[in-house]
Amino acid sequence: MITVTREVISSTAHQLRGVGCPESRGCLNMHGHNWRIRVSLSGSELDQNGMLMDFSLVKRVLMEFDHSCLNEHAYFQTHNPTAEELARYFFEKLQDFQPGIRCNWVRIWETENCMVEWNAD
Ligand SMILES: [Zn+2]
Repeated sequence: MITVTREVISSTAHQLRGVGCPESRGCLNMHGHNWRIRVSLSGSELDQNGMLMDFSLVKRVLMEFDHSCLNEHAYFQTHNPTAEELARYFFEKLQDFQPGIRCNWVRIWETENCMVEWNAD
């Protein structure tokens, strides 16, 4: 089994809906983060170039929302644009990314101190 990880920083805005606790009230306003997005992918076969997969193809997936607002994308019309939902979105997208390759987890740091993980378990 071969496992690779890829990480990007995506500058993306969002505005949460329905946040109840007083400490999170600022999340109800439009604001942005430099989201650190890290994924782990595994497979058992290398391609003809000796790679599990091209890192640049993974980057293209993870940068889909760079310099945009999550709330404006179709998926986030029905899903609150939280770090958790963003992790789920990338996890599900990468599950079917290439035959023979599975996504182990997606980790997203919304801030330096706040990280979520969506994994295969
Ligand atoms: Zn935020």
